[in-house]
Amino acid sequence: MDIKTDAVIIGAGPAGISAAISLQKAGVSNIVLEKSTFPREKTCGGLVTHKTLKKVMGLLEAECFDDISSAFCDVSKKIGIYFKSERSTGTEVSEAVRFVRREQFDHFLVRKYKEQCGTIYEGVKDHKIDNVEKKITIGDDRIIHYKYLVVADGALSHTRETLGYKDPKQGFCVETHIPKGVVTDPDEVRIYFGIIKKGYAWVFPSGEEVCVGLGGVYSKDIDYTDTLRRFLNDLGIDEKSCKIKGAFVPYGEVVDQASGSVDTVLAGDAGGYVDPIYGEGLFFALTSGIEAAKAVISSGELSDSSFKDLYMENMAPYADIIKKGYKLQKVFFNGVAQSFFKKKMRGKDSFLSYYFDNLISEYNYSYGEIRRLYSDYKKEKKKRS
Ligand SMILES: Cc1cc2nc3c(=O)[nH]c(=O)nc-3n(C[C@H](O)[C@H](O)[C@H](O)COP(=O)(O)OP(=O)(O)OC[C@H]3O[C@@H](n4cnc5c(N)ncnc54)[C@H](O)[C@@H]3O)c2cc1C
Repeated sequence: MDIKTDAVIIGAGPAGISAAISLQKAGVSNIVLEKSTFPREKTCGGLVTHKTLKKVMGLLEAECFDDISSAFCDVSKKIGIYFKSERSTGTEVSEAVRFVRREQFDHFLVRKYKEQCGTIYEGVKDHKIDNVEKKITIGDDRIIHYKYLVVADGALSHTRETLGYKDPKQGFCVETHIPKGVVTDPDEVRIYFGIIKKGYAWVFPSGEEVCVGLGGVYSKDIDYTDTLRRFLNDLGIDEKSCKIKGAFVPYGEVVDQASGSVDTVLAGDAGGYVDPIYGEGLFFALTSGIEAAKAVISSGELSDSSFKDLYMENMAPYADIIKKGYKLQKVFFNGVAQSFFKKKMRGKDSFLSYYFDNLISEYNYSYGEIRRLYSDYKKEKKKRS
C-alpha cells in the first residue's frame, strides 16, 4: 500500500508530537511513527519551568492552566540549593514550577493529536528510510512517501545514526521515585551540588512521590547507580528497595545538521537541544517541534528557502543559548568555582529567586549575560530598599 503525506515525524515524544500537532492545526498532512505504544515510560525528572508551560499552553491553545492540568502531577514555588548535604540557600520563586510524570504527560499530548484526527503508527520497530527517494517502508506492505522528515527519536536517535549525523555530547542521569512521607519537606524543589562530578543531584515533588536523581556529563568511570544509592543513604532513605532507572540526555552542543538533506531536520534530544547546565529538555523539545512545523509550513509557501534553512534560522536563538551554556558548563561544574559559589550563595535568597525567575523560569538573560543579570539584580535591590 502506498501512502502520500507532506511530513513524516519519527518519534512521538514532546518534540515529535508538538511538530505533529502544529502541522495538524495548520492542515498540513503528516504521519508520526513511534516504536513504543502509549502510555509508555520515559525516565525524566519531570520539571516544567514557566517558559515550558507557556509552550504547552500555546501548542494546545489552552486558555488557562485548568484546560491542561490533567497532564501535570505537582507544583511548587519553593527552591532549595544544597552543597553536599548542607543547605546553602532557599527561596520562593514568582512563577510556580510544575511537574509531570512522563507516561501521563506524553500520553496526554498523543491523545490531543489523535483528537485532531492525527495519524500515528505506534509499535513500529521495523521501518526502513530511503531519504533519497523520500520513502519509508514499514513491514512488507506499507510505503510512505513524504516531502519532509522530522527526526525526533530521542537522545540515542537511531535515525540520526542511520542518516549519518554526528552524535551530540551526552550526559547520563539516574533516578528513582519514593513516597513523599520518607523525606522532609517533600514539596521543595531541591538541587544538590557536590554529589556528582560535572552535574548535580535533585529531589523533585512528583505527585504522591518525590523523584530523586542525579546526572551530569557522561563518563564511563562513574558508577551512577552506586552514586545515587549513596545519595539516597545520605538523605536517610533506605535505598535497597528503590528501583533505579537511567537514561542518556544530550548535554553539550547541538548536532551539526549542515551535512544532512535539505528536507530533513533533527528536533528535540535527537538534535541535541537540551540546556547544557540544567539538562532541561522539555522546553527545547516542544520549541524545536513547533519550529520544525513552522518551517514545513513556510517552505511550502516560500520556494526559495529550504525546509532545513528555515528551521535552522528559527532555532538559531535557542542554539545560541545552548552554545553559551556549554561554555559556562565547564566553569559551572568546576570544583574551585563551586566552592566559590558555595560561599557566595550562602543566604542569598533574593538573588536565587531573581536568577531562577529570569534565567531558569524564562531565558530573559542568556548564559553569556550572568554579569548583566547580577548587576540588574543589584540595581533592583537598591531600588526596592
Ligand atoms: C533522567 C532524566 C531526567 C530529566 N529531567 C528533565 C526535567 O526534569 N525537565 C526537563 O525539561 N527535561 C528533563 N530531561 C530531558 C528530557 O527528558 C528530554 O529532553 C525530552 O524527553 C526530549 O524529548 P524528545 O521528544 O526529543 O525525546 P523523547 O522524549 O526521548 O521521545 C523520543 C520518542 O521517540 C521514540 N523512538 C525512539 N526510537 C525510535 C525509532 N527508531 N522509531 C520510532 N520512534 C522511536 C521513543 O519511544 C520516544 O517516544 C531529563 C532527562 C533524563 C534522562
